[in-house]
Order: sequence, then structure tokens, then C-alpha cells
Amino acid sequence: EPYRAADTRHEALPTKRSGATGLVLPRISLGLWWNFGDDRPLQIQRDIIRYAFDHGVFHFDLANNYGPPFGSAEKNFGRIFAEDLKPYRDELVISTKAGWDFFPGPHGIGGSAKYLLGSLNNSLRSMGLDYVDIFYSHRPDPDTPLEETCRTLDQIVRSGKARYVGISSYSADQTLRAQEIMRDLGTPLAIHQPSYSMLNRWVEDDESGSSLLAACAEAGMGTIVFSPLAQGMLTAKYLGDNPAANLTGSRAGTSLTESMLTTENLDRVRGLNDIAATRGQSLAQLAIAWVLRDQGDATVTSALIGASSVDQLRDNLVAATNTDFTSDELDAIDRFAVD
Ligand code: NDP
Repeated sequence: EPYRAADTRHEALPTKRSGATGLVLPRISLGLWWNFGDDRPLQIQRDIIRYAFDHGVFHFDLANNYGPPFGSAEKNFGRIFAEDLKPYRDELVISTKAGWDFFPGPHGIGGSAKYLLGSLNNSLRSMGLDYVDIFYSHRPDPDTPLEETCRTLDQIVRSGKARYVGISSYSADQTLRAQEIMRDLGTPLAIHQPSYSMLNRWVEDDESGSSLLAACAEAGMGTIVFSPLAQGMLTAKYLGDNPAANLTGSRAGTSLTESMLTTENLDRVRGLNDIAATRGQSLAQLAIAWVLRDQGDATVTSALIGASSVDQLRDNLVAATNTDFTSDELDAIDRFAVD
């Protein structure tokens, strides 16, 4: 029978405005990097997406190369969109990106006008969409002039192929430079997508000593942070006696490797798990709540999580109900939350 979204979805999750823009996001968003490729049953993918949307997650994040294989996540999302979500298109915030490798050759990677425009057209076809809500330059490209990448993002909004544009993994300095160019063009960047977790705090203080979160606030941009669970390391999954034995799932051995499960990291994870227990949270909930904590102007707009099952997603969404921390709790977390 046809899917009908839960009427309670609009009250299910808190939302936050993305910087000084008209774009508003749920505090927790769902990414399709892993778990939505052709290696996963479509029914499980559908169940996760339906559960998300029913429970207030109206933002889905993709990229041209999500899978495996590259491109399959957009196609699978497109199928689920066509069958389930199409009537809700105006409520949905769907994003995609180009910048990392998608096909061999000079225009299958980077920040050129040729790659970004060609890739976005391809993504729209794969997902069966007329437009995406956010299109990102997926990474800074040292070989393409920043002006060219910015001009292309501006053109993409003007052509109606994206409502907003953003950047991912640019440094604080690069972000401020890009925003200056975009302001001159008349299309300010709406959002930045960096990595951030209790085990990866570069956005607070990058190599040049600047805070990316503060730079985004200054530039009027929101922030959506990826891998807040450190790809699953900040969950109960690796707490047992033999963590490597639990290195399973699509990303195992690819983006998440045994070499990341160091004694040092696992000791931190156990310390953080004890703190989570004192707050009545699972470790995953603590990890998500922490990236969403109040940081004044630099408060993160949305936590961008992944999930390989409805159970994981259910566990994670509870995090949004408790994002308040005492200063004692934050100090205790700081003892373990180091890169
Ligand atoms: P997370 O840090 O949230 O990791 C998600 C993984 O953690 C899941 O796949 C699952 O692992 C495990 N997990 C999640 N919840 C639980 C739970 N409750 N209990 C136990 N294990 C759990 O984020 P991702 O690394 O998946 O990244 C999220 C999104 O961010 C991506 O989908 C993508 O949209 C975006 N991203 C963007 C990048 C960029 O360059 N802009 C780069 C990377 C990600 P398992 O599958 O093993 O079960």
C-alpha cells in the first residue's frame, strides 16, 4: 500500500536555521554515504528513510559518488523518492555534492565548472529531481581557481538547479575567502559541511589556529557536521573485548579500518561511554548531543549521521531530546574528547 507520512513528523525533532539564511534544518539529518548502495537490500533502505521522515528528519544528504558502486546511492534514493516521498518534495531538503573522484580523468574530480555542472546534471537525472535544495563543492581544489568554483555555484543557483549552495571541508580561511567571492556574486554560501566528533575537533581550531565554526558564524553560514559518531566508533559497537571482530558493514576495511581502532581511541571511547551512562544516554546519543551543544553563535546547525538499520536510527534520534550539558560534564568529556 502507498506510503503516507506520519502526521506527527513536524513536531518530532527540533530544527535550527542555517546561519543567516532562509534554510532551516532538522537538528539531526541522515546521510547516504554508506548503507544505500547496491550492496544493501532496497527494503532496508526504504525502511530507514521512511522511519527518518516520519520522525522529523526531512533532510537527506547525498553525493555523486555514494554507493557502492559510485552513483548507486543517488539511484536508490531516486527509486524510494519516486515511490514514497514525491508527494512531500516541497518539505524535503535534499543535497548532493561533487568534488571527490567520480570517474577517471581530469574532469571526474575537483572543482572545475565542467565537473561540477556535469555532475549535478547527472545527479538530478539519477534521483529524478528537477532541483536539489543544497549543492556542495565537496572539497577545496588547489588546482582550480576558487573564483571558478564560486562562479559555478552561483550559476547553479541562478539556473534553478539548486536552491542553496555550500562547501565541504574548506579551512576557515578558505571559507571566508569563498564567502567574500560569493557575496560579490550575489549568492552567499548557506552552509558548510565539515567533519566533527568527540574524536575529531579540528573545526574548533584548525591548522592555522582559526575556528571554522566561528568563521562560519561570522560569514552568516550554518554548519552541518558529518561523522559525529566517528563512523560508528562512538557507539556501543566497538566497546566489547574484541572490537576488531565487530568491524562489519559496508564501510569496514574501506573508510573505517582496524588501524583506527587503536587502544588509545578505544580507551577514550570507554571513558565517554561511562559519562554517557551518567547522563542516561547511549554513547551514540551522547556523541550526537555533544556536537549539537550550545556554542553560542558557533552552535552547529545539524548533526549528519549515518545508520545501517532502523534500530540505530531510533537510538540516535533520541539524542535531540537532551543536548544540554553542565560545565562539569563538558570538562569530564574534554578529558577523553581529544583528537
Ligand atoms: P556516523 O559517524 O554517524 O557513522 C554512521 C555509522 O555508525 C553507521 O553506518 C553505523 O555503522 C554506526 N552507527 C550509527 N548509529 C549507531 C548506533 N545507534 N549504534 C551502533 N552503531 C551505530 O556518520 P557517517 O560516517 O556515516 O557519515 C554521515 C554522513 O555524513 C554521510 O552519510 C554523508 O552524508 C556525510 N559525509 C560527508 C562527507 C564529506 O566529505 N562531506 C564525508 C563523510 C560523510 P555500521 O554501518 O557499521 O552499522
